[in-house]
Amino acid sequence: MRLLTLILALSFCSVGSCNGQAVPEFNSRRAFSYLEKQCSFGARVPGTTAHQRCRDYILQTMRSTADHVSTQPFLHTFGQPAHTVTATNIIANFFPQQKKRVLLCAHWDCRHWADQDPDPEKRTMPVPGANDGASGVAVLLEIAQLLKQHKPPVGIDMVFFDGEDQGTSADDRSYAKGSAVFAKQLLPSYRPLFGILLDLIGDSDLQIFQEMYSIEYARPIVDQVWQTAEKLGIDAFVPKPGYAVFDDHVPLLERGIPCIDIIDFDYPYWHTVSDTPDKCSPESLEKVGKVVLHVIYTL
Ligand SMILES: [Zn+2]
Repeated sequence: MRLLTLILALSFCSVGSCNGQAVPEFNSRRAFSYLEKQCSFGARVPGTTAHQRCRDYILQTMRSTADHVSTQPFLHTFGQPAHTVTATNIIANFFPQQKKRVLLCAHWDCRHWADQDPDPEKRTMPVPGANDGASGVAVLLEIAQLLKQHKPPVGIDMVFFDGEDQGTSADDRSYAKGSAVFAKQLLPSYRPLFGILLDLIGDSDLQIFQEMYSIEYARPIVDQVWQTAEKLGIDAFVPKPGYAVFDDHVPLLERGIPCIDIIDFDYPYWHTVSDTPDKCSPESLEKVGKVVLHVIYTL
């Protein structure tokens, strides 16, 4: 019995990077099935049936893994003509008794219009959001499964933001609405060690440069994540500055939470109707999931 336990523990330890703490193995196939499942509902635009079904799916998955799950509904106005619907952040806590905590987050909504589509006739159609939405959520859902089975050295809070992607280029603040609501309602006593936001990380041609707000306001976390990737030999993480992206991490940074954005902003299908699962790959989800797991389990 004892030997068996030892073997099982060792089998979760990735070669050369364990440092005594077992890091669970990221299941890329299962993660990709979470991406496909979200897309199977249709575009998860706030106010639609697809959105409701996906919310229920994320809630159900989190209730089977996390210690505590709650929702944070808010009114969200967007579109032309402008209309108001209820949007919902989903918050899941793992190991709530742990004082040291890490925040992991992603947005789960899809953009209501594909305004970057090369075909003008398609620009009023919604974005299927395989990469832009489903990819970050898929990695979090897979990590949730692993957290349940392998206790990490810190507590984890996961937030699935709604209302990230309905904005207009004229106004940064029309984006990241769910994150703004979450940041505003946070208790001042909530001080995670750091946060990691995942967005657009499913592109089968994955190259993740360092996002500029993250470098400016959370440099040590950026270094930690890219150094971990280097140790693991995952060269999709390029240790050079890339774009500055107004994303869900900005409202958190403004609340003093050092949160970085892991994002591959060079995605040819960004905000087009072609952002579908065939442009994404299980391998890309695995690269990101593996780095995040190693960062967490070797803290
Ligand atoms: Zn987007």
